[in-house]
Amino acid sequence: MKPVIALVGRPNVGKSTLFNRMTKSRDAIVADFAGLTRDRHYGDGRLGSREFIVIDTGGFEPDSSTGIVKEMARQTRQAVAEADVVIFVTDVRTGLAGQDHDIARYLRQANKRVLLAVNKAEGMADSPLLGEFHELGMGDPHPVSAAHGQGIRSLLEAALVDFPEDEDAEAAEPDENAPIRLAVAGRPNVGKSTLINTWLGEERLIAFDMPGTTRDAIHVPFERDGKRFELIDTAGLRRKGRVFEAIEKFSVVKTLQAIADANVVVLMVDATQGVSDQDAHIAGYILDSGRAVVIAINKWDAIDSYQRQMLERSIEQRLAFLKFAPLLHISALKRQGIGPLWKAIADAHASATKKLPTPVLTRLLHEAVEHQAPKRAGAFRPKLRYAHQGGMNPPIIVIHGNSLEHVTDSYKRYLEGRFREHFKLVGTPMRIEMKLSR
Ligand code: GDP
Ligand code: GDP
Repeated sequence: MKPVIALVGRPNVGKSTLFNRMTKSRDAIVADFAGLTRDRHYGDGRLGSREFIVIDTGGFEPDSSTGIVKEMARQTRQAVAEADVVIFVTDVRTGLAGQDHDIARYLRQANKRVLLAVNKAEGMADSPLLGEFHELGMGDPHPVSAAHGQGIRSLLEAALVDFPEDEDAEAAEPDENAPIRLAVAGRPNVGKSTLINTWLGEERLIAFDMPGTTRDAIHVPFERDGKRFELIDTAGLRRKGRVFEAIEKFSVVKTLQAIADANVVVLMVDATQGVSDQDAHIAGYILDSGRAVVIAINKWDAIDSYQRQMLERSIEQRLAFLKFAPLLHISALKRQGIGPLWKAIADAHASATKKLPTPVLTRLLHEAVEHQAPKRAGAFRPKLRYAHQGGMNPPIIVIHGNSLEHVTDSYKRYLEGRFREHFKLVGTPMRIEMKLSR
């Protein structure tokens, strides 16, 4: 499982800037989809071959006790409790503030590994101003500049020392005989346990007996229509006799880790509640992580036709960036729509792991360019020569050529659309990467 790093600090010290810096790799691709990047709090990062999850905890007010601020503090506490490492962010330009001491006191009793980052320290690596940060009793301060990208690497190296590189993470070709790892993600009470119990109670689905829990999470192997699956715990689901129950409060970290660990994610939305911020956040994370995804709108039985219309609209607005994902209306409780959901899951997995032959990709690329060439940038017109598949789950298409740095994001999306259409790729994000020919 990926290690989790939580960013904690008072407002304006540069946490979101640091967050963006640590997770920057994919933002450019998705930046112009509404509803996605605006207000993100968690993302994937990578240092060499090591992957990790970053949580930006938002503003932190340890002593506040009202409304939204209280909720933020609660979520911060939970993120800290579930993180492997905390990066405590401070600001060298304002110096130490009273609130920094409060946060330090809180973090000390939280009993976590904490690294102290002193931000906005561009060009100040040896400045005497860093000295006062020792007062916090959080070890040596790490001077960084989130805005200028200084000191980030060594901060991350320090954060991840206990997590060794995963030697064969890169080369992992999906094993066709391996079970399909499946996660059901969604807010509390959307109906995750009901769906899972519906699944596991079906005759056509054989659940293997498992000795309860492994490590922290449960992984339930089962078979359906001749395919092997493994269900990954997201919601602190625990086995109780023959049924599963969500006995823990919603855990962002468990959800993120399960998504990272899955091949296919069922994103469950409660039809009676509409698409919330949290739903959109989870959806954004699924997109980032590259997992195949199927959206299940649950409790379809419980809403009338007016509510259905409103719901369709909120899905269009807030989950526009998951347009490639099939949308299923289900009732886990009444066992409606379960068959089509399985088919969508199988199709999404098949798309995500499809083999895309180089000759076909290259032909499609040439046809696409002929139909609409990439825009010239000054003296340069990008020249797209050939394409090959660089990975699966998600499918990665690597395009080789010249002046590729001038290919716009919208042109990449145009190409993606052409590839998707030809290979009938549904339910999986795709990545288009550009590689300069020599
Ligand atoms: P947050 O409230 O902790 O998430 O802080 P933000 O990331 O929103 O940053 C607050 C302000 O500090 C913004 O105006 C940033 O541009 C600025 N900032 C962030 N990182 C740096 C940095 O490394 N150097 C300088 N000089 N300014 C920074
Ligand atoms: P979880 O927290 O996501 O695991 O949600 P649960 O499976 O515990 O379901 C929360 C509540 O929603 C329970 O009262 C369920 O009976 C109810 N529920 C789940 N699925 C449906 C459904 O399809 N229709 C209706 N009307 N209620 C449902």
